[in-house]
Amino acid sequence: MTISTATSAVARIAFATSDVVVDCQPPLPETSPFAQTYKNPSDSKTTTGCSPTVISIPHGADSGSSLLHHHSANAVSYTVSSDRLVLARILPHLPELSSRPVVLHIAVRGDLSDALLLRAAVPFFLYSSTVQRAHDHALLASRIARTEKRAVVHAFEEGEGDIGEVIHADKIRAFLLSPKRASRHLNGNGNSIGDHSHSNPANGAGSDNPTNGHVESHATPSEDMSSTADYEAYESASLATLSLVRRAVRPWTQSGEEFPHTVVITLGQTFSFEVESVSVIDLHLVSPLSPSKLLQLIPWSPKRVIVLEQLHRWDTKWTPLFVEVAGAVQHLPRKNPLIVHSGTFGDVSSITHADILKFIRHAKDSPPNTRLSLGDASSSDHSSSIVRPPHVPAHESSYTTLLSHLFADRFEISNSPQLVTTLGAMATSPEFALGRVSQQIATRGELVKAVQKALEEPDNIPADLHSFLSKWILHNEDAVKCRELCVNINPQLDSLAASTRCVTGEGPIAKILSLRSHFKMVSRWIIGSDAWSYDLGSSGMHHLIASGLNVNILIIDNVPYSARGSADPTRRKRDIGLYAMNHADVYVASVAVYSSYSQVLQSLMEADRFNGPSVILAYLPYQTEDTPALEVLKETKLAVDSGYWPLYRWDPSKEKDGKEPFTLDSDAIKNELKEFLDRHNHLSQLTRPKPDLAAEIVSSLGESLQEARKKRAQQAYDELLNAVSGKPLLVLYASDGGAAEKKAKRLANRAKARGLASTIATIDSYSIEDVAKEEYVAFVTSVAGQGEPPQNGRTFFKAVNATVGRGEKPLSEVKYSVFGMGDSHYWPRPEDAHYYNRPGKELFAKLEVLGAQPFAEIGLGNDQDADGPETGYKIWEPLVWKALGVDAVEVTEAEPEPITNEHMKIASNYLRGTIAEGLEDTSTGAIAPTDGQLTKFHGIYQQDDRDIRDERQAEGVEPAYSFMIRVRMPGGVCDGKQWLAMDQIADEHGNGTFKITTRQTFQFHGVIKRHLKPSIQAINRALLDTLAACGDVNRNVIVSAIPTLSQLHREVYEFAKTLSERLLPRTSAYHEIWLDKKLVAGDAVKDFEPLYGEYYLPRKFKIAVAVPPTNDVDVFTNDVGFIAIVDDHGKLAGFNVTAGGGMGVTHGSKKTYPRLGSILGFCTPEQGHEVAEQIMLTQRDNGNRADRKNARLKYTIDRMGLDNFKAEVERRLGWKLQPPRHYVFDRNIDDFGWSVDQDGRHNFLLFIENGRVQDEPGCNFKTGLRELAKILKGTFRMTANQHIMLAGIETPDLLDIKRVLAEYKLDNLNHTGLRLSSSACVAFPTCGLAMAESERYLPLLINKVEAICEENGLRNDSIVMRMTGCPNGCARPYVAEVAFVGKAPGTYLMLLGGGYYGERLNKIYRESVTEVEILAILKPMIKHYALERRDGERFGDFVIRAGYIAPTTAGKEWYDDMGGSGIHREVTVAA
Ligand code: SF4
Repeated sequence: MTISTATSAVARIAFATSDVVVDCQPPLPETSPFAQTYKNPSDSKTTTGCSPTVISIPHGADSGSSLLHHHSANAVSYTVSSDRLVLARILPHLPELSSRPVVLHIAVRGDLSDALLLRAAVPFFLYSSTVQRAHDHALLASRIARTEKRAVVHAFEEGEGDIGEVIHADKIRAFLLSPKRASRHLNGNGNSIGDHSHSNPANGAGSDNPTNGHVESHATPSEDMSSTADYEAYESASLATLSLVRRAVRPWTQSGEEFPHTVVITLGQTFSFEVESVSVIDLHLVSPLSPSKLLQLIPWSPKRVIVLEQLHRWDTKWTPLFVEVAGAVQHLPRKNPLIVHSGTFGDVSSITHADILKFIRHAKDSPPNTRLSLGDASSSDHSSSIVRPPHVPAHESSYTTLLSHLFADRFEISNSPQLVTTLGAMATSPEFALGRVSQQIATRGELVKAVQKALEEPDNIPADLHSFLSKWILHNEDAVKCRELCVNINPQLDSLAASTRCVTGEGPIAKILSLRSHFKMVSRWIIGSDAWSYDLGSSGMHHLIASGLNVNILIIDNVPYSARGSADPTRRKRDIGLYAMNHADVYVASVAVYSSYSQVLQSLMEADRFNGPSVILAYLPYQTEDTPALEVLKETKLAVDSGYWPLYRWDPSKEKDGKEPFTLDSDAIKNELKEFLDRHNHLSQLTRPKPDLAAEIVSSLGESLQEARKKRAQQAYDELLNAVSGKPLLVLYASDGGAAEKKAKRLANRAKARGLASTIATIDSYSIEDVAKEEYVAFVTSVAGQGEPPQNGRTFFKAVNATVGRGEKPLSEVKYSVFGMGDSHYWPRPEDAHYYNRPGKELFAKLEVLGAQPFAEIGLGNDQDADGPETGYKIWEPLVWKALGVDAVEVTEAEPEPITNEHMKIASNYLRGTIAEGLEDTSTGAIAPTDGQLTKFHGIYQQDDRDIRDERQAEGVEPAYSFMIRVRMPGGVCDGKQWLAMDQIADEHGNGTFKITTRQTFQFHGVIKRHLKPSIQAINRALLDTLAACGDVNRNVIVSAIPTLSQLHREVYEFAKTLSERLLPRTSAYHEIWLDKKLVAGDAVKDFEPLYGEYYLPRKFKIAVAVPPTNDVDVFTNDVGFIAIVDDHGKLAGFNVTAGGGMGVTHGSKKTYPRLGSILGFCTPEQGHEVAEQIMLTQRDNGNRADRKNARLKYTIDRMGLDNFKAEVERRLGWKLQPPRHYVFDRNIDDFGWSVDQDGRHNFLLFIENGRVQDEPGCNFKTGLRELAKILKGTFRMTANQHIMLAGIETPDLLDIKRVLAEYKLDNLNHTGLRLSSSACVAFPTCGLAMAESERYLPLLINKVEAICEENGLRNDSIVMRMTGCPNGCARPYVAEVAFVGKAPGTYLMLLGGGYYGERLNKIYRESVTEVEILAILKPMIKHYALERRDGERFGDFVIRAGYIAPTTAGKEWYDDMGGSGIHREVTVAA
């Protein structure tokens, strides 16, 4: 193996020889050159046998305190690229560090100025100019640090080269631990001192030749003992290093003439210095180098010594090395004292032989105090010659843009990076900024005094100006008023300046004119990184906070939540908020722009208003500049939701008004903060006349402790009961979707029925130790993600792996078997076949390794089997009974029937269940599972944050439950007031954003339990509701947005609205639970559901109304569709009625498929409601209630046959539908932009990507829409493609609307045709069914695919692309021309060939694709389309004609010919 760079060679040794490695990061966007080696160390084992702790320290942080912290470590290494700011901050800690086993490896680039700053404070300083020397010195330094327990600085030149043989970690270990050797005095060439050529030349030539011709004996200057001992320690370690690396490790090397007239002592990169009569000594050991050692370098012959160092930014004239050499030569007993010159050299590659000759000549001719220089300094020093402002990472502009947007011309960064060019590197430090701010405030104070003085002499200033200045004096701390007054003051001052009468002299007017730039109230911001928060007490941060000055400090913390473990755990970084809060009069806020934009705005404005120091801690987690925004968003969510980064505001000024100073803006709160608030609360209670507890503030998210206790008690009770019956059988299951749980429960029930003492639990509720106490254990597990165990089994699986790794056998008393459930076709590629049933198979094998004995062979259930997993189960279960000796037992009692949704509905008392009681239970953030099914009928879904599910489980707390609320809003129409109400609900009760859904309505996410009722009440106050927005009932009826046909829209909208009302459930539970409207006379009046009955429908039911030629509602994907037919006068004549559309499927289950609605016939508008109702009732009575996966109307129709179904509907109607009428659809996408309707009013259909209404940096769409809602006199119309139309704008209002649209960039339609035609469902993080990202990922995928489109000239061509996070198909992916349906994180089913206007289903093209594969597939396909499409041919049609995929002609045939056609057929499918 060769190691090619000095940094990797040094990093490897640092890693191998240390207990702790502290790696200091360079300023962003650069990354540490050492980090790669630490991440992928070449030796899995280090000298200590285990890997060191590697701590990454941000640039600018105080590394010294971090190094000091590890005082108990045997060896600590610090790695850093030379940087003045970083090294200067270590300096104060060096006296303490110098007596610790620490090695500071400093990578330099042609300039030792910064590294040499440390020299005087450490006992050992080594320098390496080559890669090989860097390697050897790294070893040597580690050895010295360990044996001497002293600090060593090792500066080495970055560069490339070979280190020869790589020393194995075992040898290094022996080297480090070997006993210390006695030193042998070495000279620079590795020879014993005394062998050196200090002998007199034979001829005795030279003016300073000693007269006696004998060896000159230098007078040895006195030197302290410690320096001698240090040198001996160096020698001893270098001998040890020599025997390890088999190369001499010398303190210096000498070249050139033996008896020179000039000796050049160089410290820096080596270069060829061949000049007659010149000897060159390259120093490698810089400390300890006592005067006597220095004199050993100099033979008797020279007249001149030049100390030549590679330094370019040394601030004093003479360098320490020069002073030492000059001091040492004073001891030489010479007639003519040696002349000693100081010199510096630059880029060695630019130094020519001629330069050297010139340099030597120049030295000869120069007086001793001349500073010499050789070579070009600027080219070698990459950083010193031009001072550039530090790079500000692009992500951080999210905050600075906000600040400049908020405070405009008042905004000033007091430590702006731009100041570095004029004021030097320290201009960005807090100390500098503090000085600057304090000077500005003092100057403004002078202005105030001057104005006061001027006002006392009213005759000297015009009356108007006097009046404005008087007002200014009153309001000079009020930013807004100051700005307004400046508008009047400035012109007056201009004319005053023109009048020499007042400006001359030292009077107050002259002073005012000279200070006039300070009239406005500047919003001063000091912006820093989290590095400032490491050393609060000693840094300028402390002074800033304690200064009391009116200044705002914004600290950006960019450590990602998931990387928080790699930060130094011992340092209380983010305590800066607490630190500041403890300083009484400091405003403090903790914000995260990717979590709550409005909270950031609010905090910035409050900080600006606060008269004193304000500290804003801003979270922005990213590792590199390329970190995608999605990643920043995810990390922010994790941090905020887990309480790692709580959002809060602390405004001490509120206390003066008797208000609570603390506002918690996120749900979770970290412990330190909680303690502070507890303390604060406690203190404030003492001063309050009526104490009250701020429980709201100090409460964490509900933990399921009580639940766990109850479970434990139940378990104990069960154990007791079981103890008196038959053989014990413990059934443990891991299940995400519930199928494995069902099987396990059935097994446990059947075991009981056979007299066994069965208990059942999730796998994770048992530890290995618990299982070891059992006799018979049956495991049932399904598969999650990429062949991983399901969520509630992962901890146990990890424990099994760890125990196997330790070689233990704790389960020797246990007998076991495993039943695994999976889908052998889920991973179609041969290389992925091992994922099939992997958890079950691995568990079975590993339990045996742990000593357990199988009592029955493993059983494998396969979704692909004729009877699904049941096929395998039926084989496995008898083996279990046989092994337990109960196979002969006859089971007479029927097994308890599993509880289904049908049972829940009937037992719910018309959708009441125990919802009301559950809302009162504050011990958990969830509601009971059965209530979770019932709340869907009320428009509410329980969800939990999927992003942090694992984290919370690891912490032992329940998932972060919250609820999704969906509004019922037929036709998607609301007015401005309703919009404003929805906007407010999202802010007050939800996560600050809301979604426009594919069913033309609002959807709120992140509503926690205690906010449910207030949210529903607020929605009802806005004259909307949520009843039947979800659940097994008819859902929101959707209608084409049709911008131009206003009369027709009125008719179809009215039709949809009244239909929605007609099909509403009649239960009063909704009003009772959410609106506190109690039933009259208690239980005496019973609910009655005339349409639905107690069972409601077998599954959800959807209705849409489309107006040709646009099919923007995808009418065929609904259970019932109405296609409007217009008569010759443009009036609504009636509808073609469709039935049996539906999207949802289950991966791998061919009994599920998407289906398009079939046209039944034509009806008039008056008949429409009756037709819809009878279709729904036919489904109510004929739908499959035994299997929810087969319960939608589409399956009922296919089972009954279309003709029979139609006949049944007509029988119920009592009349026949007319034959369908002609219609033409030509698109299913939205008509964006401006249009004028039949009434002459204007409409604008704007693009909201995937319907997510939120404010983002640079795109304040939510605010913009709020502003529009305030002035819009018409209506908002949601579209089923998740966009928004502003409808019914009168011409006089047009300009105002256009102005707001432009101000918030809502009028931007400059997107590719692909993006405008795209659509994604919510999926992660809220949807509980999501298997992969959708809404957060599709825009990123489109970025890449649209580049392909643009390359091929298809920028403006519409291609309908849709994505969903699971096969339920909320974004109607199965009619898209190209679609992706989530299977696992990052993996999708790819479908092709849907009809452009929703008339044809697409088909599975690939069963599993990742982004790379998607792009590889689409690139040539899109090119092919661009080159060979026919006139007007749509992409979905083209892929069929070009032979990529077969067309789908009916839902039942959806799986036929899947996998592509001809040469495009997927290999595994073809096989
Ligand atoms: S398609 Fe699936 S992942 Fe997407 S929102 Fe619907 S249920 Fe959730």
